[in-house]
Amino acid sequence: MDKCLFCRIRNRKIPSLCVYEDKMVYAFLDINPVNEGHTLVIPKVHAADFLSITPSELPGLIWGVQKVAAAVQKGTRADGFNLIVNNFRAAGQLVDHVHIHIIL
Ligand code: 5GP
Ligand code: ZN
Repeated sequence: MDKCLFCRIRNRKIPSLCVYEDKMVYAFLDINPVNEGHTLVIPKVHAADFLSITPSELPGLIWGVQKVAAAVQKGTRADGFNLIVNNFRAAGQLVDHVHIHIIL
């Protein structure tokens, strides 16, 4: 059994509202949204934080974030959005599987 919460979500062992998935990324709605459409994008391969993502995983993650951000912005008709990555406890990271917040 995987110990990582977001690996369990990505493997569908824990339910989530998935908005997009491809070979590299899994994107789902935040359980405690800052506002409508608040989405988290994670790499499918576990990496604890932004600095731990391997060079082979990074481009796929960034492409995925761009794709999901465009869709979420369109879907919510927001005029803009923020991308946020909290890294390490001192910066507010609570889940140790890197995730990019898309906040509208
Ligand atoms: P962090 O502070 O690590 O950057 O953000 C973690 C985020 O994950 C928070 O916004 C929190 O609401 C979200 N989160 C924590 N547990 C779950 C969960 O089980 N499901 C979903 N969908 N989001 C979660
Ligand atoms: Zn994980």
